Amino acid sequence: LQNARSLDSYWMPFTANRQFKAAPRLLASAQGMHYATEDGRKVIDGTAGLWCVNAGHGRQPITQAVERQLATLDYAPSFQMGHPIAFDFAERLAAIAPGEGAGKLDRIFFTGSGSESVDTALKIAIAYQRAIGQGTRTRLIGRERGYHGVGFGGITVGGLVNNRRVFPLLPGADHLRHTHDLERNAFSKGQPDHGAELADDLERLVALHGAETIAAVIVEPMAGSTGVLVPPKGYLERLREIATRHGILLIFDEVITGFGRLGTPFASEYFGVMPDLMTTAKGITNGTIPMGAVFAARKVHDALMNGPEATIELFHGYTYSGHPVACAAGLATLDIYAGEGLLTRVQALAPLWEEALHALRGVPHVIDIRTIGLVAGIELASRPGAVGARAYEAFVDCFEKGLLIRVTGDVIALSPPLICEPSQIEEMVSLLRGALERLA
Ligand code: PMP
Repeated sequence: LQNARSLDSYWMPFTANRQFKAAPRLLASAQGMHYATEDGRKVIDGTAGLWCVNAGHGRQPITQAVERQLATLDYAPSFQMGHPIAFDFAERLAAIAPGEGAGKLDRIFFTGSGSESVDTALKIAIAYQRAIGQGTRTRLIGRERGYHGVGFGGITVGGLVNNRRVFPLLPGADHLRHTHDLERNAFSKGQPDHGAELADDLERLVALHGAETIAAVIVEPMAGSTGVLVPPKGYLERLREIATRHGILLIFDEVITGFGRLGTPFASEYFGVMPDLMTTAKGITNGTIPMGAVFAARKVHDALMNGPEATIELFHGYTYSGHPVACAAGLATLDIYAGEGLLTRVQALAPLWEEALHALRGVPHVIDIRTIGLVAGIELASRPGAVGARAYEAFVDCFEKGLLIRVTGDVIALSPPLICEPSQIEEMVSLLRGALERLA
């Protein structure tokens, strides 16, 4: 059995510690803020699974809604057909969608994951440009150190250099310079003060390629998976202004930031900047049944459907778009979020969070700490020639002592469920401190 769960097994998780040749650590059950391992150890979930279990684990209303839905209507196609619960769920999402009037992001397209949401949003952007007579606008702009999942659309606009090297990409794409170097090791709380002018890099790309070739620019309002990179004050505002001026759609990838992570339902509200399209997944069903959704501004939706050059032959949709069981899980999730005030709860937790995390300043090897909402990135100095080794050791040590963290390179990311209690914040930071202090 042990062997069957080693690296050399029938299951092929590409992402399982190949760099360090370690078998996956096994999680057997979960409840509230905790996982339990196969040997019965409790591990506090410092990462909400993979940034997705916002309401904590094992929520009964979701389980019950899923069971009921499976028994009532387990599957229904969304080609030529519909089912009531998809309409209900879209309406509930529209009710919390950010934006006003024609800019309100209340037209919802369901997908099965974050990567599908990204592919869908990129396609909507190109199809929208075509529909309004801008058919030359097919180029997509992403950002270095962005992460947008692993579809070909996502890796094209994403910033993972190895993926871009190995695979052929969508033609013509280009990338904004990332925002990190400027504020490196600044121990900034919330948004860094300097660096808004980095958004002007979009002007460089417009000058280089011509605005008439560019459909959309996609960024995470806060880049999570590549190391918790927080945009400088004014950066997103400037990006919005430049995109609008050149007829370029702005897409926010809120797969991580959506559903309360920063203390507002969506990050666009936190930053006060509205995109034209927003991608979501993860927290939409509390990480339970796989699902994603693209939120489109009404004006984008209307032009896409009815613009002068709109093409009715456009084909896009998934077998699992608006899956009834996922919709049921999503509705129950929204009920929990609303009933427990989870989409804004982080506002009350953030000061304590910030204080607890920044108290790690001065611990050996810690060269930066970045906090925003209920997210933290703790950056460690890399050992020469062994990028990622130090953070990986911290991960192993933390897990053995009862804390699940996420590491990317030598950045440790923390993003616990939004139900987290203040005492659990203290506990997580104390466990992390212990592991950091033991690091060579
Ligand atoms: N976009 C962002 C910002 C993400 O963080 C992720 C996943 N971490 C994705 C897209 C891809 O989502 P999925 O893994 O569900 O395809």
